Amino acid sequence: MAEGQVIVSQRGAERLRYGHLWVYRSDVRSSHAEGGSIARLTDEHGNFLGRAFFSSLSQIAVRLLTREDVPVDRAFFAARIRAAADYRKRIVEDSEAYRLVYSEADLLPSLIVDRYSDWLVIQTLSQGADRLKEEFVSILAELFSPRGILERNDPRVRDLEGLDRRVSLLFGDVPSEIEARRNGIRFLHDLHKGQKTGGFLDQRENHRAAMAYASGSVLDCFTYQGGFALTLAARADQVEAIDMSGQAIEVARRNQDLNGIRNVTFREANAFDVLNGYDEAKRTFDAVILDPPAFAKNRDSIAAAVRGYREINLRALKILKPGGFLITCSCSYHIPEALFIQIVAEAANDARRIVQIVERRTQSRDHPILLTMPETHYLKCLILRAL
Ligand code: SAH
Repeated sequence: MAEGQVIVSQRGAERLRYGHLWVYRSDVRSSHAEGGSIARLTDEHGNFLGRAFFSSLSQIAVRLLTREDVPVDRAFFAARIRAAADYRKRIVEDSEAYRLVYSEADLLPSLIVDRYSDWLVIQTLSQGADRLKEEFVSILAELFSPRGILERNDPRVRDLEGLDRRVSLLFGDVPSEIEARRNGIRFLHDLHKGQKTGGFLDQRENHRAAMAYASGSVLDCFTYQGGFALTLAARADQVEAIDMSGQAIEVARRNQDLNGIRNVTFREANAFDVLNGYDEAKRTFDAVILDPPAFAKNRDSIAAAVRGYREINLRALKILKPGGFLITCSCSYHIPEALFIQIVAEAANDARRIVQIVERRTQSRDHPILLTMPETHYLKCLILRAL
């Protein structure tokens, strides 16, 4: 079969030369390529630009794989996956669960591979990546000899590519619950049904960083299965951790038992109510953690999201003891760091607190950020000290 061809507009070509990996449909001049195929890209003058996944439906028509004139075959993908894994060997410490491949940021657009001990979870989020699913599974099996590989292809973005949403076993066997240590703490993960692929791996380094600021009484407001709470427990006298999901709290309690931790109280509750209640009751803490779900899921919800972030940060600052630490996160891509800092600054002003920025953090290094592709940066984690 002849290789597909896509001609990209001047603007699209400049975007690629700058280091971005996407070309939008409006910048495609013509295409003779099947959806999901790997196409040869040229500009309007016929200059070679690279090879890319071509999508027949998504607004992101082109996802660049290489700017070199090389074959994109099994060996190509195996080398990329191996390079991604080698980098993780350098940066992942004391953890059996981490992101092995982070799509565009590892130059493997729309492919995600997460490792949980001896098991792997993959997501193929574009037509191009999805078409190569079996090939990826075979490469992963060969490179890492996992006991099982599960596809968590249930994210909504698959709709934009005309792909169905599915969770299915692709290799070996994947039990309903898997134990994997993060930062030396044992966590249970449900790869089939848990949030994301089974855990918030992107917060792993922030869990560890936050330890330095834990002492006395700590409040973890959106705890899920105890990520921050259990990591900080050893440094605190008492940790209170809440989540709206009863199921998450149940697993959090089991994680606590698994580690023989005794000073964390998990409770099913709404963080907004709890923060308000403690503010009214004038109860104070030495550290508060805020790690809510993405309040801004898209551009249209930015205004409401800003109000939500301001509200919880205001309450949290009000219940901090003098010199207390606020660890506050936002995983909304649509709220850039500068805006997040502004929101928290306004909250500090309303709370009449003077606040130091102690650390400006982001997603863990196994979720690298591509310098020329802001879309790969979504998580903000500020560590603040309220004077
Ligand atoms: N901090 C966790 C991840 C949190 S994900 C970690 O590091 O692993 C966000 C969590 O917020 C989810 O578990 C969700 O159930 C919970 N949540 C959403 N809205 C909430 C609310 N109003 N009050 C309390 N928890 C809420």
